[in-house]
Amino acid sequence: MSLSTRIFLALGAGILFGGFINLYFPGWVEPLDENLLQPVGDIFLRAIQLIVVPLVFVALIMGLTQLRGTGNVARYTSKLMSLYIVTSAIAIFFGLVVAFIVRPGDSAEPIATGEGETEEGQSLLDWLVSIVPENPFEALVSGNLLQVIVLAALVGTAINLLSDDKTHPFIDVIESVYEIVQKVLELVLKIAPFGVFALIASMVASQGFNIIANLAVYVLGLILAIILMIGLYALFLFIAGAKPRTFFKGFAPAFTLAFGTASSNAALPVALNGAEKAGLQNELSRFAIPFGTALKRDGAGILQGFNAIFVAQLFGVDMTIELVLTIFLSALLVSFSTAGVPGAGIIMMTTVLSAANLPLEGIAIVAGIDRITEGFRTLLNVVGNTANASLLQQWENRRGEAPK
Ligand code: ASP
Repeated sequence: MSLSTRIFLALGAGILFGGFINLYFPGWVEPLDENLLQPVGDIFLRAIQLIVVPLVFVALIMGLTQLRGTGNVARYTSKLMSLYIVTSAIAIFFGLVVAFIVRPGDSAEPIATGEGETEEGQSLLDWLVSIVPENPFEALVSGNLLQVIVLAALVGTAINLLSDDKTHPFIDVIESVYEIVQKVLELVLKIAPFGVFALIASMVASQGFNIIANLAVYVLGLILAIILMIGLYALFLFIAGAKPRTFFKGFAPAFTLAFGTASSNAALPVALNGAEKAGLQNELSRFAIPFGTALKRDGAGILQGFNAIFVAQLFGVDMTIELVLTIFLSALLVSFSTAGVPGAGIIMMTTVLSAANLPLEGIAIVAGIDRITEGFRTLLNVVGNTANASLLQQWENRRGEAPK
C-alpha cells in the first residue's frame, strides 16, 4: 500500500474514532487525548520536524552545486517571487469574494469558542532583517527555514565559485548526510499513519462537531475558497503544460500529510521526495520547495482575508474600499510570514485585524474551530508551494533554461 493511501486511511479512521469517542464516551476524551493521542501525534510531528533543517540545508546545497550556474539562485528567486505574488493575490481575492457572497458573519453569533491569540505579530521590516542569519549555527539551531535557506544559498554559491579540488571533500560529506537523512525519513514515515491517526482523532474527539454549528457558514465558506484555489492551480498547471494528474499523484503523500498534520514544514521532506515523480527536476525542486515552504502560504492568505471580512460583518463594521484594500494587502503580507507549524495562522490574525482596525475579539470567536479548517489550509499551502515550483519548471523549460 502506498504511503498516501496509508495516511488517507489513517485520516478516515482518526475521524471515525475521534467522532465515536466524542459522541459516546465524552468522559474518555481528556484522559485519552492527554495520555495517548496527543503524545503519539507529537512524537511523529517532532520526529519529522527533526529532518527538516538538515534536509533543507543539504538538499539546497546539492541542488545549487549540481546547477553550477551562479545566476540560477537569483533567477529562480525572482521568478518564484513573481509567481508567488500573483497566485497569492488571486487566492486572497477568492477568499474575499467567497466571504462577500456567503456572508459568514451574518449567520454567526458573537460567542467566543476558544482562547484567542493576542500575541503581537512581527513587523515586515523586522521580518526582512531577521531572515539574514548572523550566526550559521544559530540559523540551523533555531530552525528558522528562511535563515537556513539564505545560509545554504550562500554556501552553495561560494562552492560554485571555487575550484573542485577545494570543495569536493565538503560536497562528499553533504551527499553522505543527504543519504542518511533520507534513510531517517524512511524510518520516521513508517509511523506516519499512526501519527496522523492520533492527531486527527485527538482533534475530532476534543472538538466534536457541535462547535461548528454556530460557525458552519464560516467553516464551509473557507473550505470552498480553498477548494476553488486548488482547482485553479490544476488549471494553471494544465495551461502551463505540466500534467496535473502526474503532479497530484507525485505529491499525494505530501498533500495527505499536510492535511493530517496541519504543518507545511512536516510535509516538506515528503514533498521533496515526491518531486521527481511529480515531474520536477531535482536541481530545481531542491531550491523551490524549501523556499516555498518558508514563504508561500495561500491557505493562510485566504484565511486572513476571509476571517477579517467575517469579523467586519459580525461586528457590523462599514465595508469601505479602504477597509477591503487594507485587509487584502495585510493578508498578502501576512501570508508570506506565517510559519509552517500548527496554529500559526491564528497567531497572525492579530496583525491583519489590527491593520484593518477591526476588533481583536474576533480571534476568540473563531479560535475553537481554527483547527478544523487548518488541515485544508495547510493542504492548500503545500499545493500552492509545489504548484508554483512546477510552474517555474515549465517556465524554465520553455525558455530553454532547464538544468541539464
Ligand atoms: N499550519 C499552517 C501551515 O503549516 C499555517 C496556517 O496556520 O495557515 O502551513
